[in-house]
Amino acid sequence: MATKKSVGALTEADLKGKKVFVRVDQNVPLDENLKVTDDTRIRASVPTIKYLMERGARIILASHLGRPKGVTPKYSLKPVVPRLSELLGVNVAMANDCIGVEVEKLISALPDGGVLLLENVRFYKEEEKNDPEFAKKLASLADLYVNDAFGTAHRAHASTEGVTKYLKPSVAGFLMQKELDYLVGAVANPKKPFAAIVGGSKVSTKIGVMESLLEKVDILILGGGMIFTFYKAQGYSVGSSLVEEDKLNLATSLLEKAKSKGVSLLLPTDVVVADKFAADAESKIVPASGIPDGWMGLDIGPDSIKSFSGTLESTKTIIWNGPMGVFEYEKFAVGTEAIAKKLADLSGSGVTTIIGGGDSVAAVEKVGLAAKMSHISTGGGASLELLEGKTLPGVLALDDA
Ligand code: AMP
Repeated sequence: MATKKSVGALTEADLKGKKVFVRVDQNVPLDENLKVTDDTRIRASVPTIKYLMERGARIILASHLGRPKGVTPKYSLKPVVPRLSELLGVNVAMANDCIGVEVEKLISALPDGGVLLLENVRFYKEEEKNDPEFAKKLASLADLYVNDAFGTAHRAHASTEGVTKYLKPSVAGFLMQKELDYLVGAVANPKKPFAAIVGGSKVSTKIGVMESLLEKVDILILGGGMIFTFYKAQGYSVGSSLVEEDKLNLATSLLEKAKSKGVSLLLPTDVVVADKFAADAESKIVPASGIPDGWMGLDIGPDSIKSFSGTLESTKTIIWNGPMGVFEYEKFAVGTEAIAKKLADLSGSGVTTIIGGGDSVAAVEKVGLAAKMSHISTGGGASLELLEGKTLPGVLALDDA
């Protein structure tokens, strides 16, 4: 066990020749031929790894992939190696395990600046159980610990939390720092006016986010499936739209809370309704107060797009979580895509735009606007928990937390 040393950040650590255990998030999607279909997370891990390479560290990368039950070849991290090697400009070595004698031999053979990728840490059930003996074995491989796996920072697992008890210093990588700067920093001290856009399917999964953001924002714009619960709470007919009957009181209290805090809460004034939940459904635009029986709202309408866009023009900081409609179907992606384009334009004129994880990230990427935003979060669950004001165990465990 290394002695505890206080280190402010990765940049202050002495790295030459040191074995650095880096928890990255290489949990990438694979196709049936085990080819990586989206390399976003691999690319996002590069700045920290390159920094360590340039300073002559010996880099041990650990990650999970999927939810394997024991050793499962289709969840091997091997498919990551070609793209990671290409991006780093070195041959990344691959281990067949994440602990043990063979892994130790590979680490001993690493040159300064060399990179070794360990096999999926979730091949051991001890990982998710945060088993101390397993965490000690991981820690024994290295001299210091860097956590750059923002996407798993909301989980207290052996490679994200347990390991920090036995490996000092433990510091945040650059991706982790960037995520925290935007999702905590920009939200705590936003340039005002500050607007949040919250969409997605259900009120129930976004209650925490809405309540927390109501304390901070000037404007709260709502879209997606959750709006129908708000409409119904206000006495509108919602046809066969998605409604959470047990959340009607909550919707009313959120509307009241916004009012009492002076937050302007905007609901769509018109919606695109469909005769069924399908890509080829019949559709029409109706006012929010005029949803016909048997029809379901699947997107926000053109008047809402116009008024939301106009409102957003006056803001300086925008955070967005959750699509405006069923964007997976082209016909109902118009509202989500229009908001994505608006945010991209506003980014260009100096507005801070933060896409807070999950499906809104997928929507922004689908229309090719990811690079235009100030920040796109790499973690769905983790970014949601941060926006709810929770602390992440993987961050709290770091010396520079
Ligand atoms: P979430 O994971 O809560 O952010 O929700 C994302 C999902 O919400 C996407 O799969 C969308 O298709 C879905 N969604 C958005 N708008 C609606 C709607 N009006 N009715 C049903 N589902 C919706």
